[in-house]
Amino acid sequence: MSQLIDGKKISQQIKDELKEEVQRLKDNGKNACLAVVQVGTDPASTVYVNNKKKACAYIGIESRAYELPEETTEEELVALVERLNMDDTVNGILVQLPLPVHIDADRIIRTISPDKDVDGFHPVSVGRLWIGEKGFLSCTPAGIIQLLKRSGIGIEGKECVVIGRSNIVGKPMAALLLRENGTVTVAHSRTKDLKEVAKRADILIVAIGKKKFITSEYVKEGAVVIDVGMHRDEKNHLCGDVDFDNVEPHTSAITPVPGGVGPMTIAMLMDNCVETMRTQEERS
Ligand code: NAP
Repeated sequence: MSQLIDGKKISQQIKDELKEEVQRLKDNGKNACLAVVQVGTDPASTVYVNNKKKACAYIGIESRAYELPEETTEEELVALVERLNMDDTVNGILVQLPLPVHIDADRIIRTISPDKDVDGFHPVSVGRLWIGEKGFLSCTPAGIIQLLKRSGIGIEGKECVVIGRSNIVGKPMAALLLRENGTVTVAHSRTKDLKEVAKRADILIVAIGKKKFITSEYVKEGAVVIDVGMHRDEKNHLCGDVDFDNVEPHTSAITPVPGGVGPMTIAMLMDNCVETMRTQEERS
């Protein structure tokens, strides 16, 4: 019988651990404040931003909201981020993506100080990850490592196949699995014979962005399957990149959608915010 990897439960455990740690750090005079910047009123972004604010309140750190109108210019946003970089009372800066099309998101990401880059998207954070230096980790892949570890699934020596090579999921996922001593293959839209490549995996991570794409034909008997995808099916129910009902009987462990990877992203964002407090403690 396959183990259902419970992201809701694991993310709650992490937030509870962080809450305790924040209290201890606060007792020692350390503080954290997350600046959350949203441009426009995209409903999905508003939900994500509100969830991030709620998580901050839960673990006991301050969040400061900057809600800017859709017509905000790139220069205005750059100026705000530069101000937040200089503001000693702000430890983390999060600019909710996607940004309106007239703003160059890469430029905004590069403007955030690497010391406050709690999303882990800045090229300096990415570089630190690949060379094994301490730094902010991209939240969704970091959450997946926690899901595996806390479910008792070892990574060392395992064949790990990541389907997808985006900068926010696939690539940092590959770097983190490598850091855990997995043997890593990254597949993408130009991969030849994806089914054969995917079937090599002891641990298959799917971040492809296509509804229920992965069926049992892509999965080795007994593999662990992690589904990063997030979609709505024909009945308007949430579903992933993996056809869960078809794949689950062939796995030894699998994440559901919803309740798998999704809740972990915010938990790891909170971990990055607490990291700014840990750094203050190390420096004091
Ligand atoms: P993305 O930027 O669209 O990247 C998709 C990747 O899949 C690309 O590297 C693409 O290859 C590859 N791909 C597309 N079609 C393929 C095919 N037929 N065969 C093999 N590879 C294929 O997506 P993303 O931002 O990484 O997100 C992936 C999924 O995760 C989405 O459903 C997204 O909503 C979800 N997501 C969830 C969370 C969460 O917190 N749960 C966070 C982030 C993303 P090429 O590079 O060759 O184009």
